[in-house]
Amino acid sequence: MSTQATRRPTIAVLATGGTIAGTRSPDIAGSYRAATVGVQDLIAAVPGLDELADVTGEQVLQIDSVNMDDAGMLTLARRTSQLLDSDDVDAVVITHGTDTLEETAYLLHLGLTSNKPVVFVGSMRPADALSADGPRNLRHAVAVAANPQARGKGVLVVMNDEIHTARDVTKSHTLNVAALRSPHGPLGYMVGDAPVFYRAPVRRHTWQTPFDLSALDGLPQVGVVYAHASMTTATVEALVDSGTAAIVHAGMGNGYVSEHISGSLMAARAAGVHIVRASRAASGSVVRNIAALDDANGWLVVDDQNPQKARLLIALAMTKTQDVGELQQMFWTY
Ligand code: ASP
Repeated sequence: MSTQATRRPTIAVLATGGTIAGTRSPDIAGSYRAATVGVQDLIAAVPGLDELADVTGEQVLQIDSVNMDDAGMLTLARRTSQLLDSDDVDAVVITHGTDTLEETAYLLHLGLTSNKPVVFVGSMRPADALSADGPRNLRHAVAVAANPQARGKGVLVVMNDEIHTARDVTKSHTLNVAALRSPHGPLGYMVGDAPVFYRAPVRRHTWQTPFDLSALDGLPQVGVVYAHASMTTATVEALVDSGTAAIVHAGMGNGYVSEHISGSLMAARAAGVHIVRASRAASGSVVRNIAALDDANGWLVVDDQNPQKARLLIALAMTKTQDVGELQQMFWTY
């Protein structure tokens, strides 16, 4: 295996589109189109990148990440796995739109099997905007990926001079360059090209999980239902009718389920659909048997994962087991 002490690291940059590869649209003032700039131009826009590492570029997808789907995530995961398996590659950097970055990064955090650094990066301003943040973020992502301290920390996300774990990071602002935040704060910060870590993930990830994305062709269907006052049972029933394998219920507060919705979730569970209680609150854990009779109903709780990440964890978990106790343990482990 190559060591970073004996030669410069080789880093593969995989591009998938997003605003970091976007350009302003002449049609509508202030508007832009995501995913128009190719990977070689993204790399060329970062001055002095070759001082940090030998960088190669590959265009895996070219999409606005609002159009990301499970097939796209698995395509990216397979290519990332192949590169990580190669002795010629020390780390992978993935450019991605910020809208679903947290989902793709979390799936890879759960299901890659390597301890080499994998760093996601995006931007909030398109490539040709005044003070575009993409080149700076990409330089930082390569600097983190090239640093031995990034090894074994799972998938990392670098934006706006901060280093986050893919487990926790979530898009928390629609416009600000500080759009990606973590409920418990970032793992560390960039000081020039040096990553400075203050914390490390303690939940199991990548090679520490039983999951291997490179062996998967698809994921079971899981729907998310967002609770609100005056909610009806229509979305739960429609999901069950469409053949969903699990429903993540983004409930109020500690994952509360309205009295008039409970019956539809119990009926779904009786039909074999797993029910996962999550919260629409931005942070905090959902506690088992506090806001609902989870043991009696055979329901699951997410711990502190947000609903869109809980969708991915239950989907992966169901590729291993259908046992409610084992599924619950996975939410408490990862
Ligand atoms: N819609 C864009 C995307 O996710 C937004 C961004 O990248 O910031 O691809």
